[in-house]
Amino acid sequence: MTSLKIIKNYINGEFVDSENYFDDISPVDGTLVAKVSEADEIIVDNAVQAAKNALHGEWGAMSQKDRSEMLNKVADEIEQRFDDFVAAEIADTGKAHAQVKNIDIPRGAANFRFFADLAASQNEQSFKMDTPDGKGATNIIVNKPIGVVSVISPWNLPLLLMTWKVAPVLAVGNTVVVKPSEETPSTATLLAEVMDTVGMPKGVFNLLHGFGPNSAGEFMVANKDVDAITFTGESSTGSTIMKNAAVGLKPVSFELGGKNAAIIFADADFDAALAGTVRSAFSNCGQVCLCSERVYVERAIFDKFVSALKEKAEAIKIGRPEDDADMGPLISKEHKDKVLGYFSLALEEGATVITGGSVPEFGDERDNGAFIKPTIWTGLSEEARIIKEEIFGPVCHISPFDQEDEVIAKANDSEYGLAAAIWTTDMDKANRVARQMEVGICWVNDWFLRDLRTPFGGVKLSGIGREGGIHSLEFYSEPLTICIKE
Ligand code: NAD
Repeated sequence: MTSLKIIKNYINGEFVDSENYFDDISPVDGTLVAKVSEADEIIVDNAVQAAKNALHGEWGAMSQKDRSEMLNKVADEIEQRFDDFVAAEIADTGKAHAQVKNIDIPRGAANFRFFADLAASQNEQSFKMDTPDGKGATNIIVNKPIGVVSVISPWNLPLLLMTWKVAPVLAVGNTVVVKPSEETPSTATLLAEVMDTVGMPKGVFNLLHGFGPNSAGEFMVANKDVDAITFTGESSTGSTIMKNAAVGLKPVSFELGGKNAAIIFADADFDAALAGTVRSAFSNCGQVCLCSERVYVERAIFDKFVSALKEKAEAIKIGRPEDDADMGPLISKEHKDKVLGYFSLALEEGATVITGGSVPEFGDERDNGAFIKPTIWTGLSEEARIIKEEIFGPVCHISPFDQEDEVIAKANDSEYGLAAAIWTTDMDKANRVARQMEVGICWVNDWFLRDLRTPFGGVKLSGIGREGGIHSLEFYSEPLTICIKE
């Protein structure tokens, strides 16, 4: 018999229990993965105080070179324990092996390397100025850490998205309190073990488990000694966090929801556009903020594209990660219920179901999981809620279009503004259309290709601010100008 796994908080270099536990459930078959120790307000405050104290100790005195070396060791150790990280991510999410091995965990390690090296390559700026006495003055810009940063992450790419923020936070000398989603506590806990192994000074990295409202998430926002908040998750959660952060005038960086358009012109490389749209609609069971839930196809190739995408969707192998499935379950039964609600709504709104729209039946314990079929709809008006609201599942609606201006207007007619994908062989058109997209990132003839130096984030309900490359370092630093009169 295997013993019950207990997942703990990590504060000031110690793994810490609490009085309350919640269940970490596998979405593959509904079995218990672990019991997770929920941080209460006192535990959160202990973590914040540890982080505050660590700002000025060994960590604060460390040179940039040594700090960057420490973060490169974190990356090395993630790679050393690669299989543990893969297993932990899969246990919490049921994701396909290929997704976790090729994207989630490698990117987790890469985030530490990238920001360690970027921070080490920064120089202080200085500006000489003239003065009336002719002697002049020199201005030196010193970028200081912002302080204790609360990092609050979602469940869809747990390690990847958490390290995307933790790495730059630490690279510029801050300390962190981090909370993974209550659905995915495991890889964050392995990361705490890695921090321990590489000798990260106590209190620099603190991990808290729990929920949002009236739990660890809310306490991490409200705590008066937290200096900045960085959050990835739903737009409505971002709004609540912003209200709570306003009390202490804390700076926020938000990466929020999306309702992204893919635009496929008749002159596109058909097979590339098809393969790209299979990825952008169904990757990670549609649970990527960048996924295309609205697909617009030029009328000349509309019917051909719909039937080709249907064929591809029906060929996706759904199942357990260890059975080499292409697609795992949704994250939880609650999320499955939400997506099924949209399946009913699509019918009420008059959609044609091209494929899917239901739950697969396995006849085994997977029926206790959160599996769902890849689903394609057509026939809805642009006003339908299916077209307007983020569903966050393996779904897309496909509409035909006739004119370039028409499709630009439709793509931009959204409260969200995260990403778009354009498929065409006409580069003038690509350039013209891409520049009119009201989003933070627009791909041409690809999807989810990321250069970590570039700004990442969204407009409208999709976020506040940009992270990535120097943009992350800037958010997590406070510039101090020193003006020296000669
Ligand atoms: P969520 O907003 O429900 O939860 C995210 C995190 O916030 C969790 O850790 C949760 O415990 C915490 N939280 C919830 N309420 C809180 C509160 N009041 N105060 C503090 N913390 C609180 O999001 P989710 O369901 O985990 O993730 C899916 C969402 O994330 C989707 O909307 C998706 O588009 C978005 N997302 C965006 C990006 C991006 O880069 N823009 C990336 C990934 C996911």
